[in-house]
Amino acid sequence: MHQVPLYINGEFTQSSSEQWIDVVNPANQEVLAKVPCATEQEVKAAIDSAQEAFKTWRNVPVPERARIMMKYAALLKEHQEEIATIICHELGKTFEDAKGDVWRGIEVVEQAANAPAMMMGETVENVARNIDTYSYTQPLGVCAGITPFNFPAMIPLWMFPMAIVCGNTFVLKPSEQDPLTPMRLVELFEEAGAPKGVLQVVHGTKDQVDQILEAPEIKAVSFVGSCNVGHYIYSKGTQHKKRVQACVGAKNHMVIMPDAPKAQTVNNLVGASVGAGGQRCMGISVAVFVGSSKEWVEDIKKGFEGVRPGLWNDPEAAYGPQTTPQAKQRILSLIQSGKDQGATCLVDGSDYTVEGYEAGNWVGPTLFTDVTEEMEIYKEEIFGPVLSCVFVDTLDEAIALINRNPYGNGTSLFTASGAAARKFQQQIEVGQVGINIPIPVPLPFFSFTGWKNSFYGDQHTYGKQGVRFYTETKTVTSRWFDDEVVTGPNMSINLR
Ligand code: NAD
Repeated sequence: MHQVPLYINGEFTQSSSEQWIDVVNPANQEVLAKVPCATEQEVKAAIDSAQEAFKTWRNVPVPERARIMMKYAALLKEHQEEIATIICHELGKTFEDAKGDVWRGIEVVEQAANAPAMMMGETVENVARNIDTYSYTQPLGVCAGITPFNFPAMIPLWMFPMAIVCGNTFVLKPSEQDPLTPMRLVELFEEAGAPKGVLQVVHGTKDQVDQILEAPEIKAVSFVGSCNVGHYIYSKGTQHKKRVQACVGAKNHMVIMPDAPKAQTVNNLVGASVGAGGQRCMGISVAVFVGSSKEWVEDIKKGFEGVRPGLWNDPEAAYGPQTTPQAKQRILSLIQSGKDQGATCLVDGSDYTVEGYEAGNWVGPTLFTDVTEEMEIYKEEIFGPVLSCVFVDTLDEAIALINRNPYGNGTSLFTASGAAARKFQQQIEVGQVGINIPIPVPLPFFSFTGWKNSFYGDQHTYGKQGVRFYTETKTVTSRWFDDEVVTGPNMSINLR
């Protein structure tokens, strides 16, 4: 049985832990590997090694650090399909979707290679006579990242390349559900020329995360995962005087205006709601039909009926299994609650299975109408292939509904009206807005800007905000004496 190693001080080492977790193929429950819950000494060794490596890594010229990222991006492209296949085995994504998971991470590495431009400070000459002020961005020290199961390539790549190119060193604690993908990312990072100790990987769950949150050596923590855990990490991390950015749960609404192009709108809604089995933090879980667009529910229903989950290497499969039997059970009980609370279930995927793979965590596409704000299926992040349809009369009502929702990760509007689009993008209290784009995940020269209960922190992930998160600004005010004029002591706060 493959035992997933730790990665400490540039060595892949076996953990001496007595606690191990199975890494399971969700399509058939085959145990692929065992991942350790690292011991306290192992986590400490990783943090110490990162701290030691920081002393030299921070002085490596920025273009040299960036060149490692260029090489890394090239290696990831070369190995994209191989990494995608690992994702398919440990997470069950379809091959195309898994390749997308890797690709969207590669885009962040490409952006990290742009660090010299992103790290530029500011200058003003002559802020007072013969005095100049300029600022530098300097690394923080050791940073850490805690990642979720649903994008095992993209989300680790949101974090460590940005932190490291800024001159920090990094401790990654990947999801225990699919650690094989991030370990392959780490091997390739080493191959790209990353020096020993710059990146560490420890595995585990709450205890290992707690040790990271309490360690005074760690200056900043990036988290992506569920709301409860993210809130805990944000509170505990900031209590221990760390910077924390936590991208968490979501309930994303898509608004459908009657003037939207029908066929494109229906296709986009079906793909964005059940794609990846609904296991995307930017997936659509509520469709808000304005006025007569509610008649299109019949077309959505037909679309759902044509969606067939299946194995990763079945080119006809729309999406794979849910991540664990527990996740499947939770989705099924939410579907049941929708029925019990009076929603109309037009398509029910509760009993879906794949022949020969009956042990897989399958849930078929599920469509509800007549959903109200009080129902559990509306309030909870289901994180499964379940779409709730809500009907309103006006765009204003749709905007008010979305703004009442505690989450604010993503939303979209489908319309042919520029005026409606402008009103929506201006008034909506959600951080990432798509106009005729169902899943508006910003490319990495922007940042991933969830709002409200979908993000705890100040500076968002990747892009310029990512650089600000992983750096400190140092502002220098300087004067060089070039004359013999001597004035008396300056007793005021003014520069002169
Ligand atoms: P999760 O919160 O269960 O786990 C995330 C990480 O936290 C894992 O590494 C896990 O080991 C660790 N963890 C779990 N319990 C912990 C605890 N009690 N204390 C400390 N650490 C703990 O999330 P998940 O199920 O892996 O991922 C799905 C969630 O992630 C969904 O809610 C989804 O919306 C969210 N997500 C958000 C974004 C975003 O950008 N906003 C992106 C992807 C996923």
